[in-house]
Amino acid sequence: MPIILTSVEDAHKELSKRIADAEHIAAFTGAGISTESGIPDFRSKDTAWTRNPPIPFNEFMASEKTRMESWRRKFTMDDTMKDAAPNIGHYAIARLVADNRIHAVITQNIDGLHEASGVPAAKIIELHGNGTYAKCLGCDVRHELSAVRRKFEASNRAPACLCGGIIKTATIAFGQSMPEQQMRRAHAATLQCDLMLAIGSSLVVYPAAGFPVLAKENDADLIIINREETALDSIADLIIRAGIGEVLEPFAKRDRLN
Ligand code: NAD
Repeated sequence: MPIILTSVEDAHKELSKRIADAEHIAAFTGAGISTESGIPDFRSKDTAWTRNPPIPFNEFMASEKTRMESWRRKFTMDDTMKDAAPNIGHYAIARLVADNRIHAVITQNIDGLHEASGVPAAKIIELHGNGTYAKCLGCDVRHELSAVRRKFEASNRAPACLCGGIIKTATIAFGQSMPEQQMRRAHAATLQCDLMLAIGSSLVVYPAAGFPVLAKENDADLIIINREETALDSIADLIIRAGIGEVLEPFAKRDRLN
C-alpha cells in the first residue's frame, strides 16, 4: 500500500530524504505542472481547451477545412497562453537537474516550459512533441509559428511547405504515431532510474503512462505528486496529494539538499 501524505511539511521531509537517497531520478511530468503557469490541463472543466479541443490526426489530414480549423484553434490557444512562464515546479526540477539529482525529464507537455526554466534540451524527452514551433510532415523542415500565422491570416488557407507538404505543429496529435527516438530515450531513462517522480499527470494517457509502470516493474520507486487521485496510485510507493508548487518550492532553492 502506498504512503499518502497530504501535509506539505511532511512531504518536504520525505521527498528530501528520498531524493537524497536515490541514485538515478527520472521526472515524468504532465499538464498539471504547468497549471500554475496559467496553462489549463485537460481534466479541468470549462477551460480554453474545452472550447478549442485539439483535432485528431486523421481529421487534420483528411481535409484543408479541418487543417484551417486546427490552426484557428492553435492560434486562439496561443493567444490565451502567450504570457505563460515557468513556475516554481519547473524551476525546482531545473535546480534538481543542475544539481545532478534528476537525470532525465520525460514530459507529456508541449509547452516548452521545462526548457524555458533552464533544463538543458538534452535532458528533456518530449513524448508528445512541442507546440512552440511547426514542422512539415513531408520533409520535416522546421517552420516558425509567427510565419505560419502570417501566411494563414493573409491567405485564409492552411499554409503548405515549399516542398508541397502539409505543415503541422510539432506536437503529437491524438492518433499520430509516437516519436521513435523520444520513446527510445524515455525507455532507457526509465530503466536507468531507481526513483521516478510522476508530477502533475492523471496517468491515463498511453503509451506515456506506461513509463511509470515500467519503472515500477524494473524495481524503481514511484512517487506521485498530484492534488487528485491518479490511475496509478495503487502501484505508487508514495503519494503526495497537494499542489505541485508548494511541494517542490524548497527544491528550487540551492541549499535544501545540502
Ligand atoms: P491531465 O490534464 O490528464 O492531468 C493533469 C493532472 O495534474 C490532473 O491529475 C490534476 O489533478 C493534476 N494537477 C493539475 N494542476 C495541479 C497542481 N497545481 N498541483 C497538483 N496537481 C495538479 O494531464 P496529462 O496526464 O499530462 O495528460 C493529458 C495530455 O494533455 C498530455 O498528453 C499532454 O500532452 C496534453 N496537455 C499538455 C499541456 C501542456 O503542455 N501544458 C496542457 C494540457 C494538455
